[in-house]
Amino acid sequence: MRRQDHMQTKQIISRRSFLQGMAAAAALQQRSTPTCFGAPTPTSSREKLFILAYSQVKLTGGPLRSQLDRIHASYQSLDENRLLKVYRQRAGLPAPGEDMGGWYDAEGFGPGQVLGQIISGLARLYNATGDPATQAKVQRLVKGFAATVDADDYWYPSMKASTACAAYTLDKMLVGLLDAGQFAGVPAALDIARRCVKGSIRYLPPRAYERFEAPKQAVYDETYTLPENLFYMWEVSKDQTYRELAKRYLMDGTYFDPLSRGENVLPGLHAYSHVNALCSAARAYLVLGEIKYLEAIRNAWDMIEEAQSFASGGWGPNEEFVTPNRGLLGESLTKTHAHFETPCGSYAHFKLARYLLRFTGEARYGDSLERVLYNTILGIKDPRGDGHVFYYSDYHPSTQKAYMQDKWPCCSGTTPQVVADYAISTYFWSEDGIWVNLLTPSEVSWRVHGVPAKLIQTTTYPESDSAELRVEVAAPSEFSVYVRMPGWLKSPAQVAVNGKAIAVTTEPRTFAAIRRRWQTNDTVQIRLPFSFWVQPVDDQHPNMVALMWGPLMLVALDPSLELPKDSIATSPEGLRASPYSPLTFEVSRKADKLPFVPFYRVRDEVYTTYIQQKPA
Ligand SMILES: [Zn+2]
Repeated sequence: MRRQDHMQTKQIISRRSFLQGMAAAAALQQRSTPTCFGAPTPTSSREKLFILAYSQVKLTGGPLRSQLDRIHASYQSLDENRLLKVYRQRAGLPAPGEDMGGWYDAEGFGPGQVLGQIISGLARLYNATGDPATQAKVQRLVKGFAATVDADDYWYPSMKASTACAAYTLDKMLVGLLDAGQFAGVPAALDIARRCVKGSIRYLPPRAYERFEAPKQAVYDETYTLPENLFYMWEVSKDQTYRELAKRYLMDGTYFDPLSRGENVLPGLHAYSHVNALCSAARAYLVLGEIKYLEAIRNAWDMIEEAQSFASGGWGPNEEFVTPNRGLLGESLTKTHAHFETPCGSYAHFKLARYLLRFTGEARYGDSLERVLYNTILGIKDPRGDGHVFYYSDYHPSTQKAYMQDKWPCCSGTTPQVVADYAISTYFWSEDGIWVNLLTPSEVSWRVHGVPAKLIQTTTYPESDSAELRVEVAAPSEFSVYVRMPGWLKSPAQVAVNGKAIAVTTEPRTFAAIRRRWQTNDTVQIRLPFSFWVQPVDDQHPNMVALMWGPLMLVALDPSLELPKDSIATSPEGLRASPYSPLTFEVSRKADKLPFVPFYRVRDEVYTTYIQQKPA
């Protein structure tokens, strides 16, 4: 496309990212874990770590739980008649309530698209919290949607939905229905999902394609994200039809094959949907066992981490992967305000990180998950409830957080899903123990060789750098407690059991393994000392840096800051923690002080993410 069309096109592209399911393995395991003490049986020899059911992890406080509660309440209060209106109208049923507006309307950019994701998010939130009103809402929404499916299984909310985004809308509806069945006790949902697939087939292309190959009317459809949820459907139904259909949409030739050979085909691709597509490769590896899919996602992960990521861990300015080593991330700081599509991007990033953690057991993927969590999604503005949601993280100098102008974009669908998934990102399990990936107030219940066990975590992290884990076991049991040692550690982590320091390897970017015969009320004390460090935006802009404090990206709160005129000395000694407020820091600048806080603490203040570093 022509360069002058770039921003306009980007705006259209941005209406487009999408999202989808992830819950699959958790789903299977949930079915096999009728009580909160149950532990699933390993489902695959390809996994070193296993995911827990939402219901096995309870977030008990702290900033993650607080955000989850606010977002849960917002989505729980959405008007069901309005959510179902476009579907009912198309089916010729009474359709009370106001139009949703924005992308959601019959002729909007994505008609009815986020309904499936809202059902999915609420089903997961029900499983995570046990709130009966949430379960009832999921049941009503599925029932209301089912009533709109025609006798010939046509179910799209408008002809535009079936011609412009048949794959996208199906992908999101599938994850909603499958999650409703797996997590919210809606057994009829699987049959409705079968009918949706049947009713979609005639609108789907025979294979996945990139945008440049797409038919004109469906240029923004995301056929390449379909396999993840089709594999999920196979896992739930055991019907080979869906496994074969999933294979048909794996985008091997132009994407997974070259990535598996280490060829960087990312530049120019739509960022979020292609990370989401990597989750399809991950699921393909899990189900089919073909090593090329694992190689593709590992290589792509490295390419994203090395040359596409901002200090926050977010990626994709203007929703696009950049050509590496040309300074394009640095240039993007002043050229756009659309630096990271946050709810959708973090949702896909977390899914991919969890797949990679499961396949490899490597702490680096947990590090990245933590970084994106604290520096992007935890910092979003709360959804307004009227369809206006936070969309882009903005790293432009002197900017403010904002809502997306259009109502009900893709990110309004991923927002409830990504916060529900905090639970399953916090802990993992293996035959020989429990894996602590995130420090946050929480409890996890599982079984050690058949013995019910519980770990209770107390912490004010990241306001403090410490946590305590307390064990409860039905009988004394030998197992390992694995704790992630982050890559950002500059001085050694401290680990103690029952208050006494123990000899344990605490190498950064590994999991420390604490193995012993545990008894109830044994405790583990962990301290991960935070320190300051700086992260240049890219190789071509070595003095354009973000300040980091442990896992947290700090931003300057000063509307008078002028870049690059105001260059700032960023030596660690120049940064001082404010004695008045936790996680507030100051850098001396001429006669005054420049305040810094973590991105997630910013509300409506003017902030600047990258500053010009004064050469030493
Ligand atoms: Zn989005």
